[in-house]
Amino acid sequence: YDRRAAASAAGASFNIGLKNTENGIITRFPPEPSGYLHIGHAKAALLNDYFAHEYPCPSSRRALICRFDDTNPSKENEEFQESILLDLSLLGITPDRISYSSDYFQQMFDACIQLIKDGKAYADDTPKVNMQEQRMDGIASARRKMSVEENLARFDDMKTGSEEGLKWCIRAKISIDDPNKALRDPVIYRCNLQPHHRMGTTWKMYPTYDFCAPFLDSLEEVTHALRTNEYRDRNAQYHWMQNALGIRKVDIWDFSRLNFIKTVLSKRKLTTLVDTGVVWGWDDPRMPTVRGIRRRGMTIPALREFILKLGPSQNILNLDWTTFWATNKKHIDPIAARYTAIPKENAIIANVAGIDTPNTIEKPKHNKNTGLGTKKVCLSNEVFIGQEDAKSFSLNEEITLMNWGNAVVSNISTEPTTGKVTALDLQLHLQGDPKKTEKKITWLATTPSNLVPVELVNFDYLLTRDKIEKGEEVTDFLNAQTEFRTEAWADCNVVNLAENDIIQFDRVGYFRLDRAFHDGQPAIFFNIPTGKRN
Ligand code: ATP
Ligand code: MG
Ligand code: MG
Repeated sequence: YDRRAAASAAGASFNIGLKNTENGIITRFPPEPSGYLHIGHAKAALLNDYFAHEYPCPSSRRALICRFDDTNPSKENEEFQESILLDLSLLGITPDRISYSSDYFQQMFDACIQLIKDGKAYADDTPKVNMQEQRMDGIASARRKMSVEENLARFDDMKTGSEEGLKWCIRAKISIDDPNKALRDPVIYRCNLQPHHRMGTTWKMYPTYDFCAPFLDSLEEVTHALRTNEYRDRNAQYHWMQNALGIRKVDIWDFSRLNFIKTVLSKRKLTTLVDTGVVWGWDDPRMPTVRGIRRRGMTIPALREFILKLGPSQNILNLDWTTFWATNKKHIDPIAARYTAIPKENAIIANVAGIDTPNTIEKPKHNKNTGLGTKKVCLSNEVFIGQEDAKSFSLNEEITLMNWGNAVVSNISTEPTTGKVTALDLQLHLQGDPKKTEKKITWLATTPSNLVPVELVNFDYLLTRDKIEKGEEVTDFLNAQTEFRTEAWADCNVVNLAENDIIQFDRVGYFRLDRAFHDGQPAIFFNIPTGKRN
């Protein structure tokens, strides 16, 4: 797709004063294969893709690297890796190069040895909690003064994954008490005996993100490392690593994290929702994953527009979903074919006089987009009408039956206590002007061959809280009911729809077909939000 056109269509301001762009830019998107991509990742991926191709590198075709940051075997696997590549391609992103942090384990091991030999890293067996406290209080670890030989020996123990080795980690020797706590001797290597999905049991210890990112960004010729600005405190540490290793420095350019109300964008928390069965899976329409929002009916062009419109802004955002879905509506409204659905509950049968024989006419699927073709409209002397519509009628009122014409209410009986309409007769008045009626009504001929059973599904937010704070668990703030199903009749054309089709049921809303009608099983449609606040 045309990135610049997309960005300018989105009205984005990309004049962000990126430095050192004369020789082009190489960026990387570094997902950890520990879950499916969510829309926060989509923002990072689209920005990396945008900049890499906006400032092409004459000497290299590596503009955008997708680097799987697979340094924690406890959380990662093949399935996630493959899903990430597929989701990137759904987003219209084809990385120029795919790499894996695990491809560089030997080089990172050698680099760590070098750091130890240079006195810039040391082995530590301070228990985790104490280490945390010492870092907070600016107290040196008792191991900070160990000799290079001893440090190397402990690193070797770690390498074999021995009982002794498992007690240790390696820390960069930066500072004990720098006001920037990210500089207080961060851990750069830790043990993990879990087999790695690519490397098997070759390695028993793995580099941390803090070590891996600056090393590989430099090695892979990345010119600009884009990352979310919550990491800003770690920028100094990132550059310390490159300095200490004597490798090329990489510019960091940061942007704000994407957050939405009543939504978690953290793989760990999303994993909890999947594992505890709160949702059907990673592609559940209530999930903020690329798959989930697509299944809910978000289109990729709209997602791209939405993200590029936010642009590389620095504000920490906690967006509500209004603009997100409003952007989508703009994209789907001109192309969503129109059909009719009447909820079964509360549907009443009205008699229509003035039609000789039931028959079928052709009408455009979309009045403003006739390119979508036509649909059948089945006419009959008996039609379903919604109770709410019927209730609003008065005797002798002229109304419009959409896709047919005007009709006059010739008889209406109501139940005195409830006001419920129990009988309704309409007299066609096709010469009447539909522009002059107040009520345009959806209706469906009751002819069995005209009726397709459907289920209309509405969803609500999974969470009851706008924001889940650090230390709080998503499972404590779950919305009790988030799925609402309505059985309805739809018109005969709906049998021809395919899964993923996006349509509008007149006066009901936009829907994405999740399961087509087959073997008498109702078609299942998911309601697509339009951004209206409810
Ligand atoms: P998560 O908590 O979802 O696991 P992460 O940052 O640990 O997030 P990674 O797979 O390491 O997940 O992220 C890949 C890239 O996506 C990183 O560059 C990260 O900064 C970016 N990213 C992750 N979440 C967001 C977000 N909410 N908004 C913008 N970018 C994000
Ligand atoms: Mg990460
Ligand atoms: Mg995270």
